[in-house]
Amino acid sequence: MPISRKTFFKGLAIGTIGLPVALRALLGPGRAQSSGHNSSSISSEVFHWKLTTTWPPNFPVIGEVSIRFAQMVRAMSGGRLDIKVFGGGELAPPLEAFDAVRNGVAEVGHGAAYYWAGKEPAASFFATVPFGMNAQQVNAWLFSGGGMELWEKLYQPFNLLPLPGGNTGVQMGGWFRREINRIQDFKGLKMRIPGLGGRVLEKAGGAPVLLPGGEIYTGLERGVIDAAEWLGPYHDRLMGFHEIAPYYYYPGWHEPGTMLEFFINRDKFAQLPSDLQEIVRVAAWAANHWCLCEMEARNAKALAEMAAEGLKIRAFPPEVIDQLRAYAVGVIEEIISRSPAAQEVYQSYQAFRQLARRYAALTERPFYEELQPI
Ligand code: CA
Repeated sequence: MPISRKTFFKGLAIGTIGLPVALRALLGPGRAQSSGHNSSSISSEVFHWKLTTTWPPNFPVIGEVSIRFAQMVRAMSGGRLDIKVFGGGELAPPLEAFDAVRNGVAEVGHGAAYYWAGKEPAASFFATVPFGMNAQQVNAWLFSGGGMELWEKLYQPFNLLPLPGGNTGVQMGGWFRREINRIQDFKGLKMRIPGLGGRVLEKAGGAPVLLPGGEIYTGLERGVIDAAEWLGPYHDRLMGFHEIAPYYYYPGWHEPGTMLEFFINRDKFAQLPSDLQEIVRVAAWAANHWCLCEMEARNAKALAEMAAEGLKIRAFPPEVIDQLRAYAVGVIEEIISRSPAAQEVYQSYQAFRQLARRYAALTERPFYEELQPI
């Protein structure tokens, strides 16, 4: 309902309009009021948590997100919440992080929701959607467009609390041993590609393989896979994929803005005093923002260096992209026809995407195309 100008300014003065919308997203449902804490009521109890990730240990940026998160929590809590970070395989196998946190092996995990699509198909929509929203739009949907409420509802049966934990920005299309000139070139192609993108590849006759990041290079080297996508220029270059699969394709149609996530054991979270719960949420928010900034900065620099080094950077032909888009529509229709939860999440996602696209058509798009020519 539109609010009158008078009500708006009155609301701002007493803090009931505008700010609470953003604060509710930041602080969580029902948390916009003061917690009532003062220094004398803060407990001195120290909590020790373990954080398990799906990434190789100490992996740059996406692994650092958890390390920074833990550092911020420690600093803000004066050491009352101490989180020890474990890389994938150190405490639990990378793709078992979700269960490790559910079962209390760790209190918190870090990964990407599409890794858990086998448990709940709708989870994919909280990582990324082929040809879907970019990082800016996804953040807006989650924090200010109702996405977080749906994500919390989806993870509730798993006794987990999700929090956005970074974003990769638009990814690259992946590394291939041979050029992709037509859609038929995907036939029989074994490619490391997670999430809905993998399902799209299947429609094109390829075979998606889900390998954790630490196994992609050897997979390519030993011929377990013929092609692989990972993240973006910065990380892909570090992994050395160009030594084995020389053609580097763009754009990452399958991952236009992949959201990373923290997932917290709800019982363990409930045991924290409210100020520490607040600190966890705010640190996750800060880590989420840091990740996207870092990815954008490092990828832009790495791509320029790769181009200067003469790497073979190729665009997928427009007709290949059109065909992949058509397959993506089919994949999404299949998922939402089988899962009511997926249907509910996708309806919200799609409604927000349409609004965001119309807005971007008048704002971001002309800015890229006309005002800031490359
Ligand atoms: Ca990827």
